[in-house]
Amino acid sequence: MTIDKKTLHVALDERSYDIIAAPGVLSDAGRYFLPLLKTKRVVIVTDSNVGPLYLDQLGQSLTDSGITYDVVTLPAGEATKSMAHFEQLLEDILAMGIERGTTLIALGGGVIGDITGFAASTLLRGIDFIQVPTTLLSQVDSSVGGKTGINAKAGKNLIGAFHQPRLVLIDTESLNSLPKRELLAGYAEVVKYGLLGDADFFNWLEENGQKLIDGDQDVRREAILRSCAAKADVVAQDEREGGVRALLNLGHTFGHALEKECGYDGGLLHGEAVAIGMVMAFEYCAAQGLCPQEDVVRVKEHLLSLDMPVDLRALPCEDWTAELLMKHMLKDKKVKDGKVMFVLVRGIGQAYLSRDVEDQALKEYLDDLLV
Ligand code: NAD
Ligand code: MG
Repeated sequence: MTIDKKTLHVALDERSYDIIAAPGVLSDAGRYFLPLLKTKRVVIVTDSNVGPLYLDQLGQSLTDSGITYDVVTLPAGEATKSMAHFEQLLEDILAMGIERGTTLIALGGGVIGDITGFAASTLLRGIDFIQVPTTLLSQVDSSVGGKTGINAKAGKNLIGAFHQPRLVLIDTESLNSLPKRELLAGYAEVVKYGLLGDADFFNWLEENGQKLIDGDQDVRREAILRSCAAKADVVAQDEREGGVRALLNLGHTFGHALEKECGYDGGLLHGEAVAIGMVMAFEYCAAQGLCPQEDVVRVKEHLLSLDMPVDLRALPCEDWTAELLMKHMLKDKKVKDGKVMFVLVRGIGQAYLSRDVEDQALKEYLDDLLV
C-alpha cells in the first residue's frame, strides 16, 4: 500500500486499484476513468438526491473525454437495497444493451455503491465498476474491502458478493451538500480507525476534527485517505473475513444492539450508534481495569466537542435494560458457538479481539450505566 498527497494504492494483486481523494476531482472524472475503461461506454447509477446535485458535472467531464453514458436513478434511502430494486436495476441496465466491456459508475452513498457493485458482480457474469462515493461514510468505509450487496427480509447485507472496484474517485467537495447529521455519522467511522489502531491519528483528529466538519478540504482529504489506508491495511491481512478484519467492528456490537431497538427508520443513524457503541466499549474496558479511565474521557470529550451522541440514555427510545441489550448482542452476526466476538481496548489505538467477555461482567456494566 502506498499513499501520496491524493492517492492511495490498494494492493490486491490483479484486483489492485487506486483511491483518489481531492477537492474538485469530479470535474476531471473522465480523465481518471479513461485509462481504465475497456470501452468508452459507461452506465451511471445514482439516487434521487445525488443525481440532481452531481450528474451534470460528472456527465460533462465524461463527454469532454469522449465517453458516452446512460443513467439509472434509484430512489434515495436504505429501502433501495432490496431484491425488487436490484432486479429492476439489472433489467434496466440490460435493456440498454451493455457489453462485457461496459463499466458501471456508482455515484452516491453506500446504498448506491453496494447495489451497483453487486449488479456489476453479476451482470454478464461480472463487469467492471467504479465508485464515486458522495457521503463520508461511503468514502471511508465502503471504498475499501470489496463488499457489495443488498438486504434480505432476514437481515441487512445478507445477499451479496465480494467485487473490487477498478477505481474509487472521491471529490471532497461533494461533502459540502451532505446534511451535517450524515457527515457526523460518517465521522464516527473515521474516529474508529484512530481508536482501533492508530493513536497518532486520533491525536490528529482531536486537533483537526472540527476543521473537517467545518469544510476544510485539505483536512477532509487527509482524514479520508488515512481512514481508507487503515481499513485497507486490516483488509489486506484478511480479505475474505475470518480474523483481524473483525477489529473494524469496534463499537459495532454495542451499536447494533442500539440500532435494533431504534435504528433503521431514521431514528438512529448507523454512525451515531457506532459513536455511542465505541464509548460503551471503552467504558466497559475501563470498568474491567483493561483500559485507563482517562482514555474514556478523551474519547467522550472529542465526540461531544463535535455534537456527536455518546450516551444511549439520551436516545428517544425508552426502556433500555441490560437484558434487552444483551439479547440483541447475542444475535450479532459475529456470534460463534454462542460467544460474541468483542472488540476490546487496552487504550486509544490498541484494540484487540476477545470471545471471553463474561455475561455477568457485561450485565454489571450495563446495569451501572442504566441506573
Ligand atoms: P446513503 O447512501 O443512504 O446516503 C445517505 C443519504 O445522503 C441519502 O439520502 C443520500 O441520498 C444522501 N446523499 C448522498 N450523498 C450526498 C451528498 N453529497 N449531498 C447530499 N446528500 C447526499 O447512506 P450511506 O450512509 O452513505 O451508506 C449506508 C449504506 O452503506 C448502508 O446500506 C450500509 O450497509 C452500506 N455500507 C457498506 C459498506 C461496504 O463495505 N460495502 C461499508 C459501510 C456501509
Ligand atoms: Mg460501520
